[in-house]
Amino acid sequence: MDFSLTSRQRLIKEAVREFMVGECDPAKTLELAKKKEFPWEIYKKAGQNGYLASYYPKELGGQGLPLLDYCLIMEEIIRYDNRIGMALSLGSIPAKTLLRFGNEDQKKTYLPRLTKGETVASIAVTEPNHGSDIRFLDTRATKKGDEYILNGNKTYITNANIADFYTVFAQTEPEAPPYRGISGFVVERETEGVTALDLGDKIGLKTTSSCSIEFRDVKVPKKNLLGNENHGFTYIMDALNEGRGEIANQAIGLARGAYDRAVFHAKNRDQFGQKIGKFQNISHLIVEMSENIESAALLAYKAVWLYDQGKMDLATSLQAKVKCPLMAIDVCLKAMQILAGAGLFEEQFLPGYLGDALATWLLEGTGQMQRNTVAGKILGRL
Ligand SMILES: Cc1cc2nc3c(=O)[nH]c(=O)nc-3n(C[C@H](O)[C@H](O)[C@H](O)COP(=O)(O)OP(=O)(O)OC[C@H]3O[C@@H](n4cnc5c(N)ncnc54)[C@H](O)[C@@H]3O)c2cc1C
Repeated sequence: MDFSLTSRQRLIKEAVREFMVGECDPAKTLELAKKKEFPWEIYKKAGQNGYLASYYPKELGGQGLPLLDYCLIMEEIIRYDNRIGMALSLGSIPAKTLLRFGNEDQKKTYLPRLTKGETVASIAVTEPNHGSDIRFLDTRATKKGDEYILNGNKTYITNANIADFYTVFAQTEPEAPPYRGISGFVVERETEGVTALDLGDKIGLKTTSSCSIEFRDVKVPKKNLLGNENHGFTYIMDALNEGRGEIANQAIGLARGAYDRAVFHAKNRDQFGQKIGKFQNISHLIVEMSENIESAALLAYKAVWLYDQGKMDLATSLQAKVKCPLMAIDVCLKAMQILAGAGLFEEQFLPGYLGDALATWLLEGTGQMQRNTVAGKILGRL
């Protein structure tokens, strides 16, 4: 076992940190968060630097990096500024089904625009009546000649009001047994009959929107079908299992960001004539945060490392996706205790880190649903 970063990984992390110091002004990102605006300027610059979706192959505009190296890039950005990092990371995660199951034409048409920072992608699975339970969907795609006609409503879809294209999942065979009869399609936002609306304020992910989408008699050409008809559920699960390692690593970035602010405060804030870090309750909180971050990070890195080795292990990925958000939420709450009054203000980042950590718990399925799957792996059919 070798737990050290490679020299390339170390260099990448240093370069990313320099990029953030040079390009990221927290006062400006706070304004973006208040206005709920996507950070397009820095997103484009990150694209020029090769940081966006850098695990994509070179022919799709990526850097061909291992997923772990990419996760380390995002971790570093999120650690420095979550308002930027979460937006950058969530710009491309939704395109995973397209990357994995799209044909060459579809991939070449849409994916290079993501790595260049020209647009973001959305994935539309969740519906008002289907959150965790996506065995069936109410959205219908009905074949008519060379097209499918799409009708239905989606909800909580990240960036749907700004993304140029979506991967949309809909029921193509309404009578099919559970998990079957769902298909995926690439749909451009500007298509007639598509309406995406921001759902309003939320506690985290302030620089990405969460939207409803209405599809009304939307004509989708057959060539936009993703992979095979009625295989959509498998595509969603396969792509999510890869994405879950990324979400676990986002949580590591959030926890490290909160930890950095807590350590800084403990070293600089004086009360009763001494630095507050000299009080044992404060120093022990910091040690506990460090213990928890490091142990969760080992699991998160292992999940993605296994994926890079072609040995993806579902239980490890899911456990990382459960453990890391819980750890990040706890670290944020501890950091808030250390900053006390200052910790409640957005200027100090902690409310944002906490809100984003709460989101990582439910993005791509809730931790409870992931525990259901892991329980099945450990206990088998009882
Ligand atoms: C900020 C944000 C961004 C999102 N982005 C997207 C996106 O881009 N695309 C997309 O398609 N979706 C997106 N989602 C939707 C997200 O995936 C769902 O919110 C999530 O899957 C949970 O669904 P739900 O909120 O309807 O909760 P529900 O499914 O209603 O669950 C409610 C509670 O019941 C529990 N529960 C439900 N079923 C079970 C069970 N069988 N066993 C144990 N517990 C259970 C859940 O764990 C949860 O605690 C986003 C959501 C948010 C909040």
